[in-house]
Parts: sequence; structure tokens; C-alpha cells
Amino acid sequence: MIIGIPKEIYPGERRVALVPSILPTLTKAGFEIHIQSGAGLDAGYPDSLYVEKGGKMVADRAAVFAAADIIAQVLCYGSNDVNGQQDVALYRRDQILVGFLRPFGSLETVQQIAQAGVTSFSVELMPRTTRAQSMDALSSMATVSGYKAVLMAADSHPRIFPMLTTAAGTVTPARVFVIGCGVAGLQALATARRLGAVISAYDLRPAAKEQVQSLGGRFVELPIEAKDAQDARGYARAQDEDFYRQQRELLGKVVQESDVVITTAVIPGKKAPILVTEEMVKGMALGSVIVDLAAERGGNCDITESGKTVVKHGVTIIGATNLASGVPYHASMMYSRNITSFLTHLIKDQKMNLNLEDEIVRETLVTSGGEIQQPRVRELFKLPALATQG
Ligand code: NAD
Repeated sequence: MIIGIPKEIYPGERRVALVPSILPTLTKAGFEIHIQSGAGLDAGYPDSLYVEKGGKMVADRAAVFAAADIIAQVLCYGSNDVNGQQDVALYRRDQILVGFLRPFGSLETVQQIAQAGVTSFSVELMPRTTRAQSMDALSSMATVSGYKAVLMAADSHPRIFPMLTTAAGTVTPARVFVIGCGVAGLQALATARRLGAVISAYDLRPAAKEQVQSLGGRFVELPIEAKDAQDARGYARAQDEDFYRQQRELLGKVVQESDVVITTAVIPGKKAPILVTEEMVKGMALGSVIVDLAAERGGNCDITESGKTVVKHGVTIIGATNLASGVPYHASMMYSRNITSFLTHLIKDQKMNLNLEDEIVRETLVTSGGEIQQPRVRELFKLPALATQG
């Protein structure tokens, strides 16, 4: 089977779905790999490296789609809402598509993918299980984003992060507060700590306390308790507006005492809760920085502008999206391993096994045979259950 790697086309995207070093694993498993010329350049992987590792370079994007049985991308149509639609004309019936598809984003988009007859798998839907850990691209990208968020904050902040004792006086360390201690939040905490900041964090899931403490951080406890804070998959559950209001009131003081606030609080498939208000921003010291990693999902701060960095009330609010693309070399390397692990699980002896009893396949399969298959996607868009789903 041929795996095709087109160059990413989302504006500013620098990652690539497969890096050269992973190619031998796939060729040994019987795959042939066609890479669009220049696809790895922005991530630091020239064509020559792919060729050295057994890849075939193809000049033309359409030719990659025409030959490939499997297309692996970082941002597929769906998560690429700017110019991803041009791929639809290139899809072939029964072609396999793997990547970020944003399956809960737009019904029209998912329907177009289904109608093209593509068998698509969305890496966002990978179950959070030990078996699927090596395929968990969401965690890989969150790790990179959490790291990058701290570097951006440090770069924008007028203060030095670590404590310094110099002949010219003592510099006190920066105080970094992280709201939401999932994968990105914990990596942000660890990175801020490596830079010498004093770190603290909050999450509505009580399980996060131990993780924060093990990174040397202070866990901020609020005298309110979330109802059923965590679902079976490890995600936070949405709370009512009254809970979020209480959170904002209680978080105000901690936010105002921090030099940097990094927010990552999201609920799968929902708009991000507002946890930092304009009033709270007004109370922060001049030069403070907020990095809102939830910007793409509406933002945790009510004056974040998605995709932009703005200065409001003397506070820099970074609403950058797609941060992982800013560290493309390692983001691509991690993504490649995730994709390779998934493909070698799905396809054995050059045959795809669409075994819906396997949770990894069942959860990630979005479309096949012209239909949207994913039950949660069907439910969200109020489509009737398929006969096979009972
Ligand atoms: P996420 O990106 O869905 O959310 C980020 C964080 O925001 C979460 O920790 C969440 O609890 C928190 N949050 C949501 N609403 C909040 C609110 N109102 N106030 C404060 N915090 C709020 O999270 P994630 O990175 O996907 O991780 C979710 C969980 O899954 C974590 O426990 C993580 O360790 C776990 N996980 C497990 C595996 C695995 O077992 N293979 C893989 C990845 C993540």
C-alpha cells in the first residue's frame, strides 16, 4: 500500500505528517511512501533525507493523492478551514485519510469527506487508553504547545524568569500560574519551572493536585467542588454557569498576583469556559502576560482575540492558535510516531482491518462507505443512528 504525504497547506503550518527517520519502520511493514517534494522543509527535513530513508519524492500534490491508498496529513480538511477544501477534489473513493479532522466542527465538512467515499480517521478521537498511548497525537501536540506557551510568555514579559543574585542586586523569580492541568498545562508548568519561575496551578479535577505537586508546583485549592469533575476518559466534565461564576470570583486574587497566566481549560466538543474576565485583567500588574491556549475554542479569557496577540489594560494577551506548528521539528517527529503506530495497528499484511470491536478503530473512524460512522459525531449533529450501531 502507498502512503502519500502531501505538503501541509494551512497558512503558516510548518509540520509534516511523517519525518524521514520513521520511514524504515513503515517500509519494513510493507508500505511504500510517496512524499510531496518540499513537504518536510519547513520542519527541517529536506527531500534528500526522505530519499535516503527509502521515500519517493513526487513533485505534484495531485499526483500524491492520485497514487496513495492512504493519505496522512497533520491538518486535513476539517481542521484546515482556510484552504483545506481543495483536497476534496483530490480524494479517491476508498482512500484512507488519517489526521486532525476536527470531527465536531462542521457537519457540512464531515459530510463532504463522507460523500467523497473516503475512509477517514480522526486522531483527535484516539481513546485515552494505555494501548493507544503511542498513537495519541493530541497529547503529543499538547506537550509541544505547553512548552511553546511558556517560551512565548517569557519572550513577551518584561521581567526575567529565574531568581538571580547579582552584583547589581537580586532579581525575584516570575510567578507563573497555570489554569487547567491536562497535558499542555503540566508541560507548561514543567517548562516554567525549568526556567526558574515560581509555579502554581489549578484544575477542577482533584486528581491534578498530585501531578502539580510532583512538578514542584503549588496547587491552588478553591473552596468549591465540581460535580463529577472527570469522565471515564479522563476529561473534565462541563459545569453549570454558577460554578464558573464562583470559579472566576475565587481565581481573581491568584490571577492578579501572577506575572504570567497560562490557561488551557477546555471541555471536549464544547466552547471553553470563561475563567479570566476583563476585570481580572485590569487588576494585573503592567506588563503581565496571559497565554490563552484555549483561544481556538473561544478562549478562557473574555478579551482574548483568537489567533492574535493584543495588549489590553497593559497586559499582553496571547491568543495564538496552532502553537505546535511553532516547534515543527519535534512536533512532526512525535506526530510521525503516533501516525505510524496507528497505521501499523490498523493495517496488517497490507490489509486494513476495520474491526469495530477494537476501540481504537471504532472511536477514530469518522467516515466510510459514504456515511458518517462515528456515533458521537452523528449524535452531535442530530443524525439518526446507523442500523449497524443499533
Ligand atoms: P484537556 O485539553 O481536555 O483540558 C485541559 C485541562 O483543563 C484538563 O485538565 C481539564 O480538567 C481542565 N479544565 C476543564 N475545565 C476547567 C475549569 N472550568 N477549571 C479548571 N480546569 C478546567 O485535557 P487533556 O490534556 O486532554 O487531559 C485530560 C486528562 O486526560 C488528564 O488527566 C490527562 O492526564 C489525561 N490523559 C490520559 C492519557 C492516557 O491515559 N493515555 C493521555 C492523555 C491525557
